Amino acid sequence: MEISMLIYNQTSSVEITRHRIDRLSPPLWQREKVVIIMGATGTGKSRLSIDLATRFPAEVINSDKMQMYEGLDIVTNKITEEEKCGVPHHLLGVLDPDTNFTATNFCDMASLTTESILSQGQLPIIVGGSNSYIEALVEDEDFRFRSKYDCCFLWIDVSMPVLHSLVSDRVDRMVDNGMIGEVRKFVEANKIADYTGGVRRAIGVPELDWYFRVEKFLDEENRVKLLQESIQEIKNNTCKLACRQLEKIHRIKNNKKWGMHRIDATQVLHKRGKEADEAWEEQVTTPSTAIVAQFLYN
Ligand code: ATP
Repeated sequence: MEISMLIYNQTSSVEITRHRIDRLSPPLWQREKVVIIMGATGTGKSRLSIDLATRFPAEVINSDKMQMYEGLDIVTNKITEEEKCGVPHHLLGVLDPDTNFTATNFCDMASLTTESILSQGQLPIIVGGSNSYIEALVEDEDFRFRSKYDCCFLWIDVSMPVLHSLVSDRVDRMVDNGMIGEVRKFVEANKIADYTGGVRRAIGVPELDWYFRVEKFLDEENRVKLLQESIQEIKNNTCKLACRQLEKIHRIKNNKKWGMHRIDATQVLHKRGKEADEAWEEQVTTPSTAIVAQFLYN
């Protein structure tokens, strides 16, 4: 298989060359290595994972607890087939919607998947916002994961005010992409009575419950008003989630010796269109690629 690879050159420059990599051949780097991408919801973790996985021979392991479930792809903001650019993804959309999956289950599955990806000479890139899963994996009681693998942590940081507006725009886009219909179908098919387990906890499902129950009794004006209120609640809860995730990352950064690499994407995400793409490449993809190249080949 021919893929683009980055070789870290000892003279400190990073250059892109093309190599032939056989999927079954051993990795070019010596020790077993894993990249972990962290960041609050809406910061572009999936995008960075694809940027890296198209530059290194890599496969992605999802660590977003809601994206593990099958269905509700819009609400949980799963990466689309097109966005995957052919990069294999694991632990994405694999659980039945009612399964109660624990951090221990995640550690078991993520460890097995890591082993399998490495055995094929590929680099595992673990990506997702569920910091409790990452922490459970990396800080397990006997440090099995950490003692077995070298980990490179990338954290995409975005200042909170910018993140708030990003989250709001993203929820609007999700609504445009059919989120309300997706949740309505899911709620009707699953006859949901409570929102405490499985994928029913995903932000966007409980918030629309009341709207679905009463919409048929409302005139148009009140129906639209209630829908807008429910969408606003989704935005508020997503912002709260982003704040909690950011707090956890700060706590981890201050208390654990993970050697996290912080990539500041605040300026990038201010921008729109082509300008935003160029800024992303320059301020996120390029420094992250250099960090990973150094991690792998030094
Ligand atoms: P906590 O200990 O608070 O569960 P965590 O790090 O284990 O934190 P998070 O990924 O932050 O897990 O998820 C917390 C909650 O946020 C989930 O239970 C769910 O309600 C919501 N959530 C997380 N990811 C998504 C998502 N992709 N789509 C919708 N809701 C989500």
